[in-house]
Amino acid sequence: MANHETIFDQLKKQIPVDEEEPLILNRDSSVGLVIVDVVNGFCTIGSGNMAPTKHNEQISKMVEESAKLAREFCDRKWPVLAFIDSHHPDIPERPYPPHCIIGTEESELVPALKWLESEDCATLRRKDCINGFVGSMESDGSNVFVDWVKEKQIKVVSFSFDKMLSFDVEQVYCF
Ligand SMILES: [Zn+2]
Repeated sequence: MANHETIFDQLKKQIPVDEEEPLILNRDSSVGLVIVDVVNGFCTIGSGNMAPTKHNEQISKMVEESAKLAREFCDRKWPVLAFIDSHHPDIPERPYPPHCIIGTEESELVPALKWLESEDCATLRRKDCINGFVGSMESDGSNVFVDWVKEKQIKVVSFSFDKMLSFDVEQVYCF
């Protein structure tokens, strides 16, 4: 799968998407929140090779906004999907240095989002590649992300993610 293809490009092939719709949070449309890799290994100071080494306003803001959005969604019982970068110690993700090794703090949600683990509204998905779509593929050919969108009958997805460390707070797609 080409690396430059975004999770969105790949999703479009499976589910029709309208990029122009504005995000309107109302009961007429089923809205889902996707949080991508807001984990210690990317966001918490000193938490490994890919983590910030000092305070970074953009990261702090992204974490804060993600936590706020997630809380809003869970309060409304709306679905949240959190991708968690998780690598086996013997399978490096080139060209990046070792990061987010399974079982370490790096591969855990940031403290501000840790509460999601016990929320009924939240689906947590560990993935071993940058691309959440690819990382959602199961060996039987199914895809956890696609199934989540279909099962929850989600029409609008709001993404909160670091987009490979560029830390966009939010992007919205409609189906
Ligand atoms: Zn990774």
